[in-house]
Order: sequence, then C-alpha cells, then structure tokens
Amino acid sequence: MNSSVNMEKLVSLCKRRGFIFQSSEIYGGLNSCWDYGFLGVELKKNVKEAWWKSVVQMRSDVVGIDSSILMHPDVWKASGHLDCFSDPMVDCKVCKHRFRADDLNSDKCPECGGELTDVRQFNLMFKTFMGTVEDQQATVYLRPETAQGIFTNFKNIQTTSRSKIPFGIAQIGKAFRNEITPGNFTFRTREFEQMEIEFFVKPGEDMEWFEHWKKERFNWYLKYGIKKENIRFREHEKNELAHYAKACVDVDYNFPFGWSELEGVANRTDYDLKKHIEKTGKDLLYFDEGTKEKYVPYVIEPSAGVDRSTLAFLVDSYEEEEDRILLRLDPRLAPFKAAIFPLVKKDGLSEISRDIEGKLKKYFNVFYDEKSSIGRRYRRQDEIGTPFGITVDYQTKDDSTVTLRERDSMEQERISIEQLASAIERKIYG
Ligand SMILES: [Zn+2]
Repeated sequence: MNSSVNMEKLVSLCKRRGFIFQSSEIYGGLNSCWDYGFLGVELKKNVKEAWWKSVVQMRSDVVGIDSSILMHPDVWKASGHLDCFSDPMVDCKVCKHRFRADDLNSDKCPECGGELTDVRQFNLMFKTFMGTVEDQQATVYLRPETAQGIFTNFKNIQTTSRSKIPFGIAQIGKAFRNEITPGNFTFRTREFEQMEIEFFVKPGEDMEWFEHWKKERFNWYLKYGIKKENIRFREHEKNELAHYAKACVDVDYNFPFGWSELEGVANRTDYDLKKHIEKTGKDLLYFDEGTKEKYVPYVIEPSAGVDRSTLAFLVDSYEEEEDRILLRLDPRLAPFKAAIFPLVKKDGLSEISRDIEGKLKKYFNVFYDEKSSIGRRYRRQDEIGTPFGITVDYQTKDDSTVTLRERDSMEQERISIEQLASAIERKIYG
C-alpha cells in the first residue's frame, strides 16, 4: 500500500482546486459518478493525448477509430457479453444492500447481519431503449468496452487504411458497466473512459506481440513519471482469465487503497472476429497477399483506463514539503505549462504580463495570476502541478527579461521574453 499519500487529502485537493467534483453535487450527488473540473479536464486530455501520441502517431502500424457507444444488440450476443458478462450477486433481505457474492466471507449480511438471498448472476451492461417504444425489440446497450466497435470495423479499417498484418486499431472512448461495488474515488466507476488497442497478428506470432505490448505499455507509465516502485505486472491465473483470453497480465499501481489494475494486456486470440463471422456470415478473414494465405487474425489487446491512469498520475505526483503541497506532474501532463505573474499590479507590469500571456498561449496552456503575494501565487501553482512560473518585475521594463522559476527545484533564472516560448517548450518536450 502506498502510504506516502493519503487518499482523503488528494480527494480534498481535487475538489478544492478544481480537478474533480462529485456529479450532480447540488442534488446530493450521484453515487460513483464524477465530473472533471477546469484542471481535471486538461490533465485527462493530456493523458489521452500522451497515449494517442505513443500508440498511434509515433508508430506506423496502428491507426485510430472513434466508434459509436450504441451498437446493434446482436454485437453483444456474438461477443458473449449478453450471456457471460455478469457478476454473482446476493441481496440482503433485511437492509436491501447488494453485494458481490465473491466479496463475502460469510452467509450473513456484512452491514446488518441479515439473511441473504441466493446467488444470482447480474449482467453488468446498462440497458436503454432506442426510438419511441420501450419494448424488448427496442433494447440497446451502452457499450461495456470500446473493443467491439473495433472488431466490427476490422474490415472497413483494414481495407481503407491498406494496413497489413501485424497492425492495430486504437480507440479512446466512454464505456459503461453497472458495477455492483464501485468505489475508491474515480478508480471504479460505472461510467468510465477507456484507451484500447486491438492489435491484429498472425496466429503463432501472438505471444511474441503480447510480450511486445506488455513492455510498451509498462514503459509508457514510467515515461510519464510513475515511480518504478509503484508499478508492477500481475499475471492472471488460468481460472481468472476472461472467457475469450489465452493470456492476460495486469499493470498494477500501488494506490493508497492497495495495488490495483491500471491496464490489462490480453491475448484475445481469434475469439471475437470468429464470433462476428459466425453471427453475421460476413467474410472478416485477412488475406495475406505475400503468402496467399487467408486466416482469422489473433488479437493482442492493451486496455487502459483513462480515469485510473489520471488518478495514478495525481497520486504519484502528490508531495508535501514543509511549506508547500506540490504535484510533481510530468510537464507534458500538467494542466498549465506556465503561470505568469506581475510582481505588482501597477507601473505597467500587468500590461507586460498580459502581453507575454498572449504570446505564450499560441504554444501551450498558460495561466495568469496577479492576486496576493508572489510567494502565495507560486504555491498555488505548485499545488496544481504547473511546472514553470514567470515573474515580470521592474527589471523587465529595462531589459525585457523575466524570472523563470522551476516548480520542483524552485530554482530561478533570468531569461529574455523573446526566448521564453522556445526555452519552455524545450524544457517540456525535450
Ligand atoms: Zn443487511
């Protein structure tokens, strides 16, 4: 358990500073639903961009897709989600609380000691109705994973992008699971965002690619600042593998509430494509022009949680020093890259600062602050992870230089306004 951070303090900072709020707060909140505030939305967007850059834009063998949340209900029949995507559940006959059967140690209610119902299978998919008639025929599901939108478009994407195996399709999007026991802040929620890749390979080369993606994805977290000691692999036992998987490994993070999954890398074999071929009768086979072979590809799936990674980056960067709290966020993930402070509001310093703000905004996200003492303004930015502080003082009027302060070391250097944008960009992106 990660004891250097206290979850309560982190949740409080998230609310106080505008990272994360409870959904529908003014109505008393909606259980396990969260809203990202003006800082949270930037952080989360940067996490998604870092992922997209690493798995799509920096590679030549992965392309993207953005498929719809609502899909033909037969998709979920074919994929097995309608029949198999469920948790064993019991209800308390007295207090009506609902529990996952596999979480319980006794046959009595852990809340009130009451008698429990028999175990029932509870499907985790959210149902809704399409059109104006609320009947069985109109039932559609909110997708429980983004993956199926990739499988059903396999042929469309492969032919239009003229991709040759091995290649992958990546997607970021919302998914929904009616979890019986959500919790731990944004870690387990019923509405969440996924970053998924389905990487199609020739059968027989699957385990090699499984190892490739394990390594790639693990290193991505390290690259963006997660401490080595707080991240690990956890291999799945044979009996906990999903119905479609041949192998699966979790990337776990050492949260204050214990080691928990950030991402799963699974070998889904040819299960999904085969099921869709069976159900639709469509030819989703891959034709290898070189060898003239036709086959159903195997699939390696790295599937990461956006909200979970974002939470891990927050937890991992949180630090308390003697007189300040700071988020040592990787500058590429930080909501604001720099904050601009006039030393005082008068004598034209505000105007110069506003001018610098306008110039820098073209390159990256910046924040302007002229309220309260300079020390307090620095600390406010430290607390939200802004890596650089720019102070405009009287010397600026003489020689067009400003002070550039670095968040972690608090070191300051004098730099000309002209060089500011390129100097900061170099420090952020290398
Ligand atoms: Zn009870």
